[in-house]
Amino acid sequence: MTDLTRLTASELAAKIHKREITSVEATQAHLDRIAEVDGAVNAFLHVDTEGALAAARKVDGDLAEGREPVSPIAGVPLALKDVLTTKGVPTTCGSKTLENWLPPYDATVTRRLREAGVVILGKTNMDEFAMGSSTENSAYGPTRNPWDRERIPGGSGGGSSASLAAFEAPLAIGTDTGGSIRQPAAVTGTVGVKPTYGGVSRYGLVAFSSSLDQAGPCARSVLDAALLHEVIAGHDPMDSTSIDAPVPPVVTAARAGLKGDLTGVKVGVVAEFSGEGYQPGVQRSFEAAVAQLKDLGAEVVEVSCPNFTYALPAYYLIAPSECSSNLARFDAMRYGLRVADDGTHSAEEVMSLTREAGFGAEVKRRIMLGTYALSSGYYDAYYGSAQKVRTLITRDFTAAFEKVDVLVSPTTPTTAFKIGERVDDPLAMYLADLCTIPANLAGNAAMSVPSGLSDEDGLPVGLQIMAPALADDRLYRVGAAYEVARGPLLDRIPELKGVSA
Ligand code: GLN
Repeated sequence: MTDLTRLTASELAAKIHKREITSVEATQAHLDRIAEVDGAVNAFLHVDTEGALAAARKVDGDLAEGREPVSPIAGVPLALKDVLTTKGVPTTCGSKTLENWLPPYDATVTRRLREAGVVILGKTNMDEFAMGSSTENSAYGPTRNPWDRERIPGGSGGGSSASLAAFEAPLAIGTDTGGSIRQPAAVTGTVGVKPTYGGVSRYGLVAFSSSLDQAGPCARSVLDAALLHEVIAGHDPMDSTSIDAPVPPVVTAARAGLKGDLTGVKVGVVAEFSGEGYQPGVQRSFEAAVAQLKDLGAEVVEVSCPNFTYALPAYYLIAPSECSSNLARFDAMRYGLRVADDGTHSAEEVMSLTREAGFGAEVKRRIMLGTYALSSGYYDAYYGSAQKVRTLITRDFTAAFEKVDVLVSPTTPTTAFKIGERVDDPLAMYLADLCTIPANLAGNAAMSVPSGLSDEDGLPVGLQIMAPALADDRLYRVGAAYEVARGPLLDRIPELKGVSA
């Protein structure tokens, strides 16, 4: 029998819906795979075996009674980033602060997945509160990159992307505040999409930086990402920043792209995001990808976005500022951890000792940076200036999209670095998001699609495609066309079978 963990979500769904296999079989195959390899990958913080099998049985039961599948991916298993709430199922955000916390409600993304018959296998590892680029800031140990277990799987959503590359799940959900869907996708050879800000509800997404956070699909193919995108996207009155507009036709666009013709599409290469400072193997992979886009019929021009150079410093003022405010809710009174609660300490001491014990070093660094940037004497110089840069970046995008349909760049300056290599150097860690941050600051849509392996180290490289707000469908058309031209990739992952923790 075919190994069900090697199939894409679309392939699995077709078999389940034709009743060639059951959702329970597909789910069990992935649960078995997790049991076999996750000791060596650490992609999952929690596996919900009972919940997953119950959801799968429901789909099988409905199909057996002759009902139509409730969505094109009904019955397909998925790995959910541990920053989205799941009613009664642990949600830690990779933090000791929320260890043992059981949310009383489902995030809108979680609810939509359940309503679409998607089988949630469990919750994936991440940098604490989504702050990081390597998943090393998790309080529960790092996730390892299935391509090379000495290396990071990216972050903050390293668990979600690694679960795809380890064939533990065919679909996953990530969240992207500065690159946490796209950067892990790039370094694990998988697809990740940050939808237009407001395209997917943030209700139940534990907030890091509310003006930037966005949940999105992760998959092993562009079409699979599109199918998942349509399930989770759409207006939600529970999120005041949710856009009340039709979901862009991403599945239609992906299918159109699969025909492999980009005639009439104008692609802009971001002049600021290549060349010096980029790992030569990444640069060569990017140039080869651009050549392939031309072969597919696209018109390629170079476009300058001068303010993109300031995106990283602006982000590291805005995101910590919002984080310092958002994380104030972890006050030892309302959620999770509480220490020193022995009657001898004041409420203020309990709060302060709990935050000291519950938060890791990076979260504390961000809270301090943000508090400083927002303090009255420095507000204009730091937070205020960063907001002005944000406006200038949005203008760069607007000007660029008057000339081209999509912009492209490498997703990351390097391939996956070694575990431990950047932990003592926050600035080196932050540089992993150099190319992904502008799309968050401006709120528009962006995708990372694998552009093959670097000729230096044999590790995956990502091609970033960026589109205007609400034009997410363009990402899928270009991404799918490129994927066909590039050819298969994941069969080159070293076999993980038989590993032990
Ligand atoms: N690596 C970036 C940071 O640490 C982005 C994180 C994210 O997108 N959640 O802030």
